[in-house]
Formats: sequence, structure tokens, C-alpha cells
Amino acid sequence: MAPFDPADPLGIDDLLEPEDLAVRETVRAWAGDRVLPYVAEWYESGELPGIRELARELGGIGALGMSLSGYGCAGASAVQYGLACLELEAADSGIRSLVSVQGSLAMYAIHRFGSEEQKQGWLPRMASGEVIGCFGLTEPDHGSDPAAMRTYAKRDAGGDWVLNGRKMWITNGSVAGVAVVWAQTEDGIRGFVVPTDRPGFSAPEIKHKWSLRASVTSELVLDDVRLPADAVLPEVTGLKGPLSCLSHARYGIVWGAMGAARTCFEAAVDYAKTREQFGRPIGGFQLTQAKLADMAVELHKGILLAHHLGRRMDAGRLRPEQVSFGKLNNVREAIDICRTARTILGANGISLEYPVMRHATNLESVLTYEGTVEMHQLVLGKALTGLDAFR
Ligand SMILES: Cc1cc2nc3c(=O)[nH]c(=O)nc-3n(C[C@H](O)[C@H](O)[C@H](O)COP(=O)(O)OP(=O)(O)OC[C@H]3O[C@@H](n4cnc5c(N)ncnc54)[C@H](O)[C@@H]3O)c2cc1C
Repeated sequence: MAPFDPADPLGIDDLLEPEDLAVRETVRAWAGDRVLPYVAEWYESGELPGIRELARELGGIGALGMSLSGYGCAGASAVQYGLACLELEAADSGIRSLVSVQGSLAMYAIHRFGSEEQKQGWLPRMASGEVIGCFGLTEPDHGSDPAAMRTYAKRDAGGDWVLNGRKMWITNGSVAGVAVVWAQTEDGIRGFVVPTDRPGFSAPEIKHKWSLRASVTSELVLDDVRLPADAVLPEVTGLKGPLSCLSHARYGIVWGAMGAARTCFEAAVDYAKTREQFGRPIGGFQLTQAKLADMAVELHKGILLAHHLGRRMDAGRLRPEQVSFGKLNNVREAIDICRTARTILGANGISLEYPVMRHATNLESVLTYEGTVEMHQLVLGKALTGLDAFR
């Protein structure tokens, strides 16, 4: 029998194919080379310098729109996409957010609901990282309840659309070449593919964030943005459009959150083995071992859950309620693991010299975006009882 492997105590790697391991190694190596040495500095300055170059490199390793097929996308499996998310978020949630928004939100919306012209026009350039995309759903006054959005697209006499409104907290907004914007129309909510150089479009960056600092977050301002008739995503009307994109992105978060947790867990184990108090390593104290054991249990249960959901997605059997289950559990447990790691590192736990506080604060955003804890509890509560408690 193989010896116990502290890095993979449940033997989850046995479930992976050689191609899965190859994807994981490629993304891990890229993140180790291009993100890890610099990310604390980016985080401290609250900037993601070189984001366009990073996007091109991510395109080069096939990480953008990874699980989509055709149009220059890698056509990877859901499990492979999940492994990539985990490795990216092990470096920083901001980098995983860049990739999630590009692939699972902006590209996914165009791939699933776009016309052939929209797909040909945007997807190959987005897959290569030449064009960065963003996804505008949330508004200043409408977050968890996007059905109440105010952004409005009106048809004028010539058939053009004219968009007015505000979107808030939009990842990649200020650096995007294209925005997928959801708006009310007289036929219900529709998605629009908006080139960001259109007159009336602007995307001021949101500053003073204390979470996801190595990520671009913006407001989208739409003042009489005129778009041609074919700017609308033709294949969907209603909230199911954005919600199905969110379901895809949330799936990536189920994996990604465990990456942040893994990094904090590893930092805690290393620290516990070397930091001495009362004449011996703190890892030798039973209370520290109890923390580490509980962290390991939740970390690997979470990875196993992500893997299970990935297999269901690959089989075309993943339900949105199951994605809610995964996001609710894994982000909540990941934040708990990071906070416990913080205690093991003592005062050093709050220092940017270690990755723990950065990951813990990043996860505060991950806990809120793509559906808050409460929204996923309500999704599951409704599925369990048949009673809708949203309002
Ligand atoms: C860094 C970052 C990046 C983001 N990126 C994007 C992006 O790219 N695109 C995008 O569209 N959005 C993005 N968001 C927005 C995010 O999706 C929203 O913040 C989220 O949906 C919650 O909306 P809200 O902040 O308006 O909170 P609210 O909806 O105002 O909720 C506030 C609190 O009330 C609770 N609550 C609300 N309704 C109920 C209810 N019925 N029952 C019980 N509790 C309830 C919520 O759970 C929460 O705890 C991003 C957010 C952040 C922080």
C-alpha cells in the first residue's frame, strides 16, 4: 500500500487522469513563476500591473474559456478547468477572478447565447487574452436581487439599442475591451455585447478595497450608449441568462476557494513545525494539531466535493442547487481554514510576509460575490422544502 501522503491524505489524485495532472502542473508552474513572486507587492499597492500581459500569458496556457470548445478555446474538461482554478487561487483569488470572469462569465455568455457573428468576432481574441471581458450584472442598488435591475436598453426608431444605467463592482471593468451587460428591455432582461470604446461608456476603477486588491474592480457607467440591433445576445431572454453564467463561474469558485485554503494550510503546517514556544515546536502541542487536523479534513473534503461536482458537470448532470451546495460549503470552509491558519502564525499571521491574511481577506469577497452565503442557503432551503423564502 502507498504510504500516507500529507499533501493528498485521501488519495484524491488517484481520481485524476494523466491529462488532468498535466493541466494542473502547467497552471501551477505558471502561477509559481508569474504570480507568486510579485503578488504581495501587487496586493499592497492595490494594483494589478501588467494585467494585459498576464491575460495574454493565461491565454497562451489555454486558461481563458478553458472548458469551452471551438473559437480558439481549449475544450478542457470541467475537472481540468476546476484544477486550474484551484492552482490560480492558490496564488491569489484576484488572478482566479480575472480568469473566471473572462471565461465563465463574459466568454461563456457569448458562447452559449451569442450569434455566430458575435462568437467569431469576440471569442478567439478573448481566448488568446488579446481582449479582456467583463460581466455587468450587479448595480449600486441591486445585488442579490438582480431581477430588480434599473439599467435599461431601449430600441430607437432605426432599430439601434440605447443603453442607460450603472453597474457596480465589476471585475476587469476598467481594462475590458468588451462588456457583457444585462439590462431591462420591453421584452424582459437581455444581454448586450458592448465594445467598451463606444461613446457614453466609461468604467471608473473602484479604489480603497481591502479585499481582492490584486484585481481590477470597476463601476460601469452607461450614458446613452448606442449599439447596433445585433448587439443583443439572441439566444436568451430573462434572468436565466445571467444565472446560468453565474452557475458556471460558481463551479470554478468551488475549486478555487480550496486553492486559497491549501496555501494557508501549508503555511500553517510549515510554521507549526518550525516556530518554537515553551521549548518545542508549536506543532507538537495537541491544540495546534487539533487545528491542523480539522483544517486538513475540511480542505480535502472540499477538494473531494469539487471533484464530485466536476464529474457531474462533465457528465452533463450538475444541477444549480449542487453548485450552491459546493460554493456555500467550500468558500465558508476555506475562510475558516485561513482564519485558523492566521491564529497558528500568531502575529506573523497578519503580515504580508506570509500569504495567510491576503488569502483570508480575499475570501471575504469570494464569500459575497457570485451569490452570498445567504443566497445559497436560500437556494438550498427552497430545494429542500419546496418553499421560496427569497422575499
Ligand atoms: C470584489 C468584487 C467583485 C465583483 N465582481 C462582480 C462582477 O464582475 N460582476 C457583477 O455583476 N457583480 C460583481 N460583484 C458583485 C457581487 O456579485 C455582489 O456584491 C453580490 O451579488 C451581493 O450583492 P450586494 O453587494 O449588493 O449585497 P446585497 O444584495 O445588498 O446583500 C447584503 C446582505 O443582505 C443579504 N440579503 C439580501 N437579500 C436577502 C434575503 N432575501 N434574505 C436574507 N438575506 C438577504 C445578503 O446575503 C448580504 O448578506 C463583485 C463583488 C465584489 C466584492
